Amino acid sequence: TAFSSLGLSDALLRAVQEQGYDTPSPIQAQAIPVVLEGRDLLAAAQTGTGKTAGFTLPMLQLLSEHRPPDGHQLRALVLTPTRELAAQVGESVSTYGRHLPLRSAIVFGGVSINPQKDLLRRGVDILVATPGRLLDLQGQGCVDLSHVQILVLDEADRMLDMGFIHDIKRILKLLPKKRQNLMFSATFSPEIRRLTSDILHNPTSIEV
Ligand code: AMP
Repeated sequence: TAFSSLGLSDALLRAVQEQGYDTPSPIQAQAIPVVLEGRDLLAAAQTGTGKTAGFTLPMLQLLSEHRPPDGHQLRALVLTPTRELAAQVGESVSTYGRHLPLRSAIVFGGVSINPQKDLLRRGVDILVATPGRLLDLQGQGCVDLSHVQILVLDEADRMLDMGFIHDIKRILKLLPKKRQNLMFSATFSPEIRRLTSDILHNPTSIEV
């Protein structure tokens, strides 16, 4: 498979090429067309498989195809268990989206909240967040989740291990019912399976 055969726009193909990627990894080859079709996705994938580009590239494409007339609106939410992963995913979003007129922000706990509020006030299309800090910001009226079209749960098993299940459930209640859901997990415990069936709607499953 070539990147050019996956249905990605020129702006994204250019960013991929600038990263020096030759061919899509197996998870990218499988996930990108599924996400572009608007389907829910359940992917069993470890770090190092290229999973981040696997959801980031098609997410950026979907968001850039339909933009709100009045600037920026939070339409994609990526939840991660740790600040390190949030920073990493947020960096990938910026890198792959560098030729697109979309804005993103990264928010996580353990650091001062005010700079994050300032970022959000300027308007973003994509928010990468850890669950607790997202709820803090939402509770303070700094995030409007009512337009989210795409939800990504990255390393969902780690989020459950770290005790984020209640935060995740609270966040889910704040999102529109009709949305696309992408879930990544390295392992599949009964708890993960339960979360999967709660969240995902007729998902395509891929394993690499
Ligand atoms: P991830 O599993 O998403 O954390 O990605 C692991 C590493 O693989 C990152 O450093 C990416 O920059 C790199 N990577 C992702 N996709 C590709 C690709 N198609 N070709 C070469 N490297 C890649």
